[in-house]
Amino acid sequence: MTADFRALTPDDIAALRAIVGETAILYGDADRLAPYRSDESGHGHGANPDVVLKPCSTDQVSRIAAYCNRHRIPMTPRGAGSGLAGGAIPLYGGVVLSFERMSSILEIDVENMVAVVEPGVITNDLCQRVGEDGLFYAGYPMSVQSSSIGGNVACNAGGAKVIKYGATAAHVLGLEVVLASGEVLQLGGKRRKDSSGYSLLRLMVGSEGTLGLITKITLRLIPQPGPSADLLVPFRSTEDAVAAFPKAIMAAPDMPAAVEFIDRLSMCHAMAYMGTTIPLADNADAFLIIQVEAKDADALFDVYRPVGEACLEAGALEVYVADTLWASERIWGLRRNCLEALRVIDPTVEGGDFVVPSTAIPAMMTFIRALADEHGVEIPCAGHVADGNIHPHPLKPEDRSDDEWNGQRHELLSRIAMKAVEYGGAVSGEHGVGFLKNDILAQSKGDELRAMKAIKDALDPHGILNPGKLFSN
Ligand SMILES: Cc1cc2nc3c(=O)[nH]c(=O)nc-3n(C[C@H](O)[C@H](O)[C@H](O)COP(=O)(O)OP(=O)(O)OC[C@H]3O[C@@H](n4cnc5c(N)ncnc54)[C@H](O)[C@@H]3O)c2cc1C
Repeated sequence: MTADFRALTPDDIAALRAIVGETAILYGDADRLAPYRSDESGHGHGANPDVVLKPCSTDQVSRIAAYCNRHRIPMTPRGAGSGLAGGAIPLYGGVVLSFERMSSILEIDVENMVAVVEPGVITNDLCQRVGEDGLFYAGYPMSVQSSSIGGNVACNAGGAKVIKYGATAAHVLGLEVVLASGEVLQLGGKRRKDSSGYSLLRLMVGSEGTLGLITKITLRLIPQPGPSADLLVPFRSTEDAVAAFPKAIMAAPDMPAAVEFIDRLSMCHAMAYMGTTIPLADNADAFLIIQVEAKDADALFDVYRPVGEACLEAGALEVYVADTLWASERIWGLRRNCLEALRVIDPTVEGGDFVVPSTAIPAMMTFIRALADEHGVEIPCAGHVADGNIHPHPLKPEDRSDDEWNGQRHELLSRIAMKAVEYGGAVSGEHGVGFLKNDILAQSKGDELRAMKAIKDALDPHGILNPGKLFSN
């Protein structure tokens, strides 16, 4: 791989303009290019891209890739820019390839229960549309309203419902992918299984735009689940909460759809942000949100009752049940707004995304709290506890300068991630590596990284696809 790219010339701009057309190119206008230099990671790293291209077809994407490959021009694919690992940030300038105009739902095939979509579809739009046919797309993240399907596939996004339905990879049946050379591959399709050789389909999911440009996606759908209820369960300690949730899962007649964790600090900040309070907030150190589903409203009570009872037997301080949309929204609003609430206190807040076997979470929380005390910082944590995936968010103390804090925060997040690896975990559970975690990816993967690099070199020999991401070059 090489970071030895050629600067764009007026001839390049003319050639790229000829591919996408006058209205689908942003060039020379710093204000309009600026939104494409950052994402939701809160980082303003990187310069403006030289040019933003908004192709509307696979053919255009293929011609752009072939041109950039020939002329050693770096390309950064971009979905909706909601990423938290800096994946869509153009570290080397060059071309940002934005999929915002490739946003059509091409087909809902009810009989095969699949959807075929372009990558720029906002995930929630797909969820709404398939709901009209009584179907459900279960792979969505918490950022369902602000992320695109292409970005979800590129990061193998998770979310609250992974425990029951799986992460994005579990729902991807087919991909159309443009390689760096411009060659177009059709991987998988509407078929539900495939044992025919290496799964390049699976390789592309989670590759963060470093192996190919995803131009079409075939997704598995399932019938709409029945009505749901949400249980908000406060515990005196994280240990109690983490010990309780496997018992709650075992007690449930069906796998709960979600088991989320919020620690006391995150809950306090989320309540302040939402202008609300919840009972027992002062006595509890940890909270679970457990969502259960039933086939109809009459069956719902029989599904959540044993779950609630199991939590109480395991030491829950109380169990609050929300079985109306309004009450559920109030509970989920607290969880969904954890990050926004922290941004009020520290606008540059950045989070980790470690994943461990869920039994290691109490030890991880003990480690995080000791680290916070050692450095005199707050590190609120929330996440998808049933998946063992927690997001720690160190908050900048007032007495630290920006420079001092940038280094310290990175060190804190790195130490937490590497501790997770010691416990049999990994540095990212769902947000991906981008460039913010590529140093700890290298530390944690050892020999596996060499195999990953060999794949990258084979598919993108000039390293033009999303350079600086996953590998630090
Ligand atoms: C409030 C909030 C909550 C969030 N909750 C979750 C959550 O629950 N679970 C979770 O997993 N994530 C979550 N995220 C992170 C983020 O929403 C996901 O990573 C999402 O999948 C990114 O999608 P995007 O379309 O915004 O992609 P972008 O940020 O635009 O890009 C992300 C990566 O995908 C690549 N990419 C995008 N499109 C393509 C394409 N067509 N072909 C090839 N590569 C492509 C980019 O190069 C980049 O590396 C959250 C973010 C926020 C701000």
